[in-house]
Amino acid sequence: MRYQRPKGTADILPGASQHWQYVENIARDVFRKYRFEEIRTPLFENFEVFSRTSGDTSDIVTKEMYDFKDKGDRHISLRPEGTAGVVRAFVENKLYGPEVQKPFKTYYMGQMYRYERPQSGRLREFHQIGVEAFGSDEPALDVEVIAMGMDLFKHFGINNLRLAINTLGDKETRENYRQALIDFLEPHFDELSEDSQVRLHKNPLRVLDSKDKQDQKFVADAPSILDYLTDDAKAHFETVKALLTALGIDYEVDSTMVRGLDYYNHTIFEFMVDSKALGHGYTTVCAGGRYNGLVEELGGPEVSGVGFGLGMERLILLMEAEGVEFPDTRKLDAYVVGIGDAADAATLKVVQALRSQDFAADRDYLARKPKAQFKTADRLNAAYTLTLGEAELAANTIHVKNMATGNEVSAPLDDVLTDFANVIASTN
Ligand code: ATP
Ligand code: MG
Repeated sequence: MRYQRPKGTADILPGASQHWQYVENIARDVFRKYRFEEIRTPLFENFEVFSRTSGDTSDIVTKEMYDFKDKGDRHISLRPEGTAGVVRAFVENKLYGPEVQKPFKTYYMGQMYRYERPQSGRLREFHQIGVEAFGSDEPALDVEVIAMGMDLFKHFGINNLRLAINTLGDKETRENYRQALIDFLEPHFDELSEDSQVRLHKNPLRVLDSKDKQDQKFVADAPSILDYLTDDAKAHFETVKALLTALGIDYEVDSTMVRGLDYYNHTIFEFMVDSKALGHGYTTVCAGGRYNGLVEELGGPEVSGVGFGLGMERLILLMEAEGVEFPDTRKLDAYVVGIGDAADAATLKVVQALRSQDFAADRDYLARKPKAQFKTADRLNAAYTLTLGEAELAANTIHVKNMATGNEVSAPLDDVLTDFANVIASTN
């Protein structure tokens, strides 16, 4: 029997994992500057946490959920996205309370699970980085979140982003628009896809998001939500646009954008790139928006939120395709060659001492001959090769070679054990 990873999953091997760490470190650093702090929530939640929040007509809930009954007959789901779990934690831990600074700004990164047809940049287990900010209705917070996203991508080395924004308005906006959409689509009912027929009365906005070609033809002529905004919704959107302009952030309004999750209202946005690495045309690499009402949906008080999520697989594919230089964090400072059995304890002592002085150090564990050990030091790109042979052991010294300059010294063993930095200074 040969075991293979489940369809739609990936092994991120050493070498590639460096790229992931690089991305994660940048994200943590950018978030820190905006006072977003990390939250870690479970990889699985009660099914209802997602069905209540994503909307039971969303693709995620109807088709993509990894859900099961556990041994205690609980209906459990692996998380398909990050927001619902964060909101659940926000409510359960009363993070809306007076002792928590508002807005409460938080971020997460980690695995998500969706039962999808795997393809490039689309997996069943994938990773997202996401942010959420709770407790302010100010359009300035929407704009901070968008600006932080832009900043993040700049730090990732991706600059050719397109920002599309739209508004889904408030409750009244949506009710008015909903009826207008139904009235518009109803005459075409028989020509709509099966999915869209089901959704037309339950949630007509979903039809706008349909990937069906025929549906898209009707959608092109559908009424625009921008014509149904209440004064409040309009004012919010106008301020968002004005603040984006004030920050010099280019955007375009896409009035047909609705997003795949049902919980959004007011501002929604997507960052898109045109890169062959991700398929034809523009691909969304980061998406988010406002979700006033979500906290109440999960039993909390009336607290609004705004956030975004970005797919790490697509981001890293994109960075690789764009030729972003990832730093090599696997650099080895020193490789210690031991000659003869007598050197075994001494080489071990040396590598341990170097590590305790904060150097990355390694030695041989395969009883390799000296020649093969020197070769290994080369392959590992060690900056210094140290050698302990019979002569050195007898004299209590160690041979140190600077691989960049070729300079070599014989140093007292004690000096290497206690102050290697000083020893290598003499080889420059
Ligand atoms: P799509 O339209 O591509 O299916 P979506 O609307 O389902 O995307 P969101 O739920 O908004 O995506 O998730 C945010 C980001 O997470 C996406 O922009 C994408 O980068 C990433 N993402 C979503 N699903 C997957 C997946 N199955 N595999 C890898 N990344 C994904
Ligand atoms: Mg999807």
